Amino acid sequence: MPLLSTGTSRRRLVTAAAVGFPAILTCGRAFAAQDPFTQGVASGDPLADGFVIWTRIAPDIFAEDGMGGAPDGLPVRWEVARDEGFRHIVKVGEALARRAFGSTLHVEVSGLDPDRPYWYRFIAQGVNSPTGRAWTAPRPDAAVDRVRFTAASCSHWEWGYFSAYRHMAQEEDSRFTLFLGDYIYESPGQPLVGGRVRSYGDLPEADSLANYRRRYALHHSDPDLQALHAAAPAIAIWDDHEVQDDYSGIWSKQLDQLPPARFRQRRQAAYQAFVENLPVRLSRVMRPEGYRIHNRLHWGRLAQFDALDGRQFRSPPACIEQGSGKGHMTAIDCPDLEDPSRTFLGFEQERWLYDGWNRSTAEWNVLVQNLLIAPMVFDTPKGPVIWTDTWNGFGAARRRLIDTMVSSGIRNPVTLAGDYHSFWANNLYRDFDKPGQKPVAAEFVVSSITSSGPPENFYKNAMPANPQIRYFDSTHRGYMAFDLGSDRLDVRMMATSDRTDRHATAYILHSASVEAGVPGLT
Ligand code: FE
Ligand code: CA
Repeated sequence: MPLLSTGTSRRRLVTAAAVGFPAILTCGRAFAAQDPFTQGVASGDPLADGFVIWTRIAPDIFAEDGMGGAPDGLPVRWEVARDEGFRHIVKVGEALARRAFGSTLHVEVSGLDPDRPYWYRFIAQGVNSPTGRAWTAPRPDAAVDRVRFTAASCSHWEWGYFSAYRHMAQEEDSRFTLFLGDYIYESPGQPLVGGRVRSYGDLPEADSLANYRRRYALHHSDPDLQALHAAAPAIAIWDDHEVQDDYSGIWSKQLDQLPPARFRQRRQAAYQAFVENLPVRLSRVMRPEGYRIHNRLHWGRLAQFDALDGRQFRSPPACIEQGSGKGHMTAIDCPDLEDPSRTFLGFEQERWLYDGWNRSTAEWNVLVQNLLIAPMVFDTPKGPVIWTDTWNGFGAARRRLIDTMVSSGIRNPVTLAGDYHSFWANNLYRDFDKPGQKPVAAEFVVSSITSSGPPENFYKNAMPANPQIRYFDSTHRGYMAFDLGSDRLDVRMMATSDRTDRHATAYILHSASVEAGVPGLT
C-alpha cells in the first residue's frame, strides 16, 4: 500500500505544489512557518533495485492527537540522486502525507542499480528535508566478498542519550542497520531519580494509536537516531515494548484487565504506529489478514538474512501463574515447555522460515530476531528454573528450529537477538544436555542502547551451569558491528562510555568471530 500519489481530493494543494512548492501555501500560515521535517528521514528494506524512503510531516511533534500538526494530504516531492549534491537525480515523484497514516510517507523506490549508494530527500512547502543515504543490495546472484552491518535494540528514552546510535551512524561502510526490537517503550514515565536522565514529559503510557504515535514522534526528534537513519537503510523487527512488556501473541501481561479480545485492539494500534514510523515496505507488510513484518533479505550470494516476528503469533506463555501472561521464572519441568503444539513464530511463519532455509544457497544464513535462543538455567533452592519470555519458554519450538537448521543443510548459520540488555556470545547445540557435541550455530545477543541491564553477578554466578554461554556482560550499553566475509564473521561488541553523557564515546568491549565452515564460536 505505497502512498505514491496520483489523484487527490486536495486539488488546491497539488496545484500549488505543481508550480514549484512555494514556501507559503494556503493551508494555514501557522503550519507553513514551521519546519515540516522535525522527524528526520529514513530508508529501509534494501533490494538490488531499490529501497523504501520514509519521512513524517510533523511541524508540531507532540500534538496531542498524535498527528504531528500536519494537514491531511499535504503533497511532498521526493528525489533520489546518485550524488550527495543532487546533480544526478535519477528518480522523482510526489506523495501525499495522509493523516490516516500518521502523516508518514513510505515511498518504494525501484529501478535503481545494485550495490551502490544513493542520496534522497523530501521537499514540502519549499522546505528541503535533511538528506539521507541509502544503499541498494547486490544482485542476488552476485559474488560478494564482504559486508558490514550493525545491530541495535532496547532504546529506553528515559534511561539515557542515544550516543550508541550516533556511533552506529559513524560506522564507516555499514550497509544497513538491524533494529531487533524495543525501539520504543510503552511504559509510563518515571520520576527522574536513580540515574534516569531525560523524561517522557507529559506523554502518558502508550496504549492508544495517538499515544503510540507520540512515542515514535519523541524518539524521531532525537538527533542521534536521526543521524543513524540518514546514514544507512534499516531492517526493523519488533519485540514486546512496541506494544506491551512481555506480551505473547494475544496474551497480555494483565490477563484479567486486558483479556485477548481487548488486548488485540491495543496491539493493533501499536502495530499500526510501528509500520507508520519505521521505513518498512508497506506493499509487503500491509496484508488483509494483518501486519507481516517477517522478511528475507539477500546480500548477493554471500548471505541470506531472515528477519522474524517473534511476538505476534506466539502461543500463551508457559505455565501461567496467577493470571499474568508476563515472563516469569518457572521450573524446567513445567510441562508446557516441551509441548509441541506451542509455537514461538506461529506455524505459518515457521514453514516460511524452513522453506527459505531449504532453498537457501547462501554462504551465510543469519537469523535476525528478538529473543535469546540458547538455554539459560538458574539453580535455585527450589531447583533449576528458566525465564519463560525467551525461547527458553518454548523448548519444543526451539528444538524444531535448531533441528531444521541442521536438516535443511544451510551453510554457516548465525543467530542474532536483542531484548536482554546485555552482550552475549553463545553456542547453539542440537542437544544441549549432551556434552561433547559440536555446535550447530553461534548466537550473538546485542546489549541495549540505553535500557538497564540485568544483575551482573546473578548471571555470572549462573554461568558455570550454562557452558553454552561463552561471553556475558550486562554492565555496558552499546551496539554490535558485524564484518561478514566469505571466510569469516567478525563481531565487535561496542560499548558506550556513559549513557548519561550526550557526547559519550564508544569502544570495543569484546570481539568474537565465526570461521566459515566451522559452526559455532571460534
Ligand atoms: Fe528492552
Ligand atoms: Ca524486550
